[in-house]
Amino acid sequence: MADIEGYCPTFWPAQLFLCSRFAHLRSAMPSPATLIGFDVEAVRADFPILHQTLNGNPLVYLDNAATTQKPQVVIDSLVEYYTQYNANIHRGLHTLAERATAEYELTRTTVRDFIGAAEAEEIVFTTGTTGGINLIASTYGRANVQAGDEIVISAMEHHSNIVPWQMLCQEKGALLRVIPMTDAGELDMEAAAHLITPRTKVVAVVWASNSLGTVNPVQELIQLAHNQGAVLVLDAAQAIGHFKVDVQALNVDFLVFSSHKLFGPTGIGILYGKRALLEAMPPYQGGGEMIKDVTFERTTYNELPYKFEAGTPNIADVVAFRKAVEYVQNLDRPAAEAHEQALLAYATAALQAAVPDVQLIGTATDKIAVLSFVVPGAHPQDLGILLDNYGIAVRTGHHCTQPVMDRLGIVGTVRASFSFYSTLQEAEYLAQKLARVVKMVRG
Ligand code: PMP
Repeated sequence: MADIEGYCPTFWPAQLFLCSRFAHLRSAMPSPATLIGFDVEAVRADFPILHQTLNGNPLVYLDNAATTQKPQVVIDSLVEYYTQYNANIHRGLHTLAERATAEYELTRTTVRDFIGAAEAEEIVFTTGTTGGINLIASTYGRANVQAGDEIVISAMEHHSNIVPWQMLCQEKGALLRVIPMTDAGELDMEAAAHLITPRTKVVAVVWASNSLGTVNPVQELIQLAHNQGAVLVLDAAQAIGHFKVDVQALNVDFLVFSSHKLFGPTGIGILYGKRALLEAMPPYQGGGEMIKDVTFERTTYNELPYKFEAGTPNIADVVAFRKAVEYVQNLDRPAAEAHEQALLAYATAALQAAVPDVQLIGTATDKIAVLSFVVPGAHPQDLGILLDNYGIAVRTGHHCTQPVMDRLGIVGTVRASFSFYSTLQEAEYLAQKLARVVKMVRG
């Protein structure tokens, strides 16, 4: 990365503070001591895609909230599966089928341990976060929500945690209620306490917002839901890649996330549900695998978790996902988190220094390393396209959170989202190039 034009020649962590170009940022920057111990170059070496030039510049990948990159072990695992033991699972007795089944189920127990679930049967493979929420709305929701009941979501939900509940409300004659948020992008918890009532059957909230970065006080929300006899569905799509999750410590009822945001393949995800809830739920899709016995008169359903896994699943991607989870398990997570927080603080200050009238969207006290912003007089899309010319991949638009944009009176934002493999040099490069493209757009 050292060859990117304009980079400070000295290097993070300790030397950074000696570099005069950063003098104006020092007060906003975290202590370098928090970063010592996380070797970002070592982890970058594990991600082949990061080492390429785009449009004549080194790739600066800052779209991790949309999807994360994959370490070599995950890619190798896909190749190994298809070259050595591709077979359908659970039904076959031959050696390949047994190996594929064992690998598939090993991912389940690995995920169980990774999120602190009590039992492997509480881990259901889905197509992703969206798939998980739709499953809960269609099964638990249909069985438990009646006319006049209420479902509570928040003002900062991803469309995938709005639309399935809206559809359920329409079908059942139930009411969707929304916890408002402040201008800074924090949930109004006083309002939440009033909105969650005995009429509430489901509270469905995002743990960490993809468009604002806000980390919500989910422990408090779970308590509010449980006090009123409601279940809480937690969208951990963003949270899972940034901090440790322990479903039993949280006492959360349902938790969903996507493999692709946790350095694994696209197309699969995890639904965690408490056993008692999953047992009582009707099945989702009908088909092979989810049954015990089928006659033309009636069908009995399979036990957990297979009751919710109809048809041939995405075996290869489930198998490779274990490698992603293990990769994260093997990281020094506290050091990785400190690195990401330092990146967020650094990038925020660098952006403000480079473009003084930049407006940060989402200034909650507790944030993951997501930096959303708008620049007066410059459309986010123009900024995104021009930054791409410098090899910088950022996301622009509403980020599937249109109500957030409406609430803040904006059309969209530019969003730079970091991961543990992002570097301070990349943050600085973004700030420099943003200043340049803003000038270009403004003429
Ligand atoms: N919720 C949040 C907070 C997200 O960031 C996303 C993905 N951007 C989703 C849900 C949907 O995830 P997927 O598209 O993988 O189902």
